[in-house]
Amino acid sequence: MYTGPVYAADAPDAGICSYCTAFGTAAERYDACFADTVEGDVSRDVVTEILERTPGFTAGQSPHRLTRCGYGATFLGPAGARELKAHPDAVDHLRRQCAAWTWPPDQVEDSLGSLDKDGGPIAYLFRCRVCETHLAYADFT
Ligand SMILES: [Zn+2]
Repeated sequence: MYTGPVYAADAPDAGICSYCTAFGTAAERYDACFADTVEGDVSRDVVTEILERTPGFTAGQSPHRLTRCGYGATFLGPAGARELKAHPDAVDHLRRQCAAWTWPPDQVEDSLGSLDKDGGPIAYLFRCRVCETHLAYADFT
């Protein structure tokens, strides 16, 4: 059973069959989708696959899916500063997002250092299905 987030008026509270989620029948039957937004420049087919056939995840704010190399990236799970140490590419990705809002560098580093998957703010870690680069966004991004 899939019991993650479902955006639909009448989806069953008890969960949705994982096969129906993967094959798109659940999205069709309940007019449902499983993520709030898809980030990045990808085809309509890829957006549909992510929103209607990919299990969602729970996040502090409305969850969104990251894309890279033309596809939805694989969601690896919530992460804090400790978990991100093993993935400097994901930290760089977060740093670039903060820099894009013209945060001063010390504020960026403080925010990255405060990430904590149990206490928040939480980062959400992804891996590109094509080039295996790690990506992330955080509750503060
Ligand atoms: Zn890639």
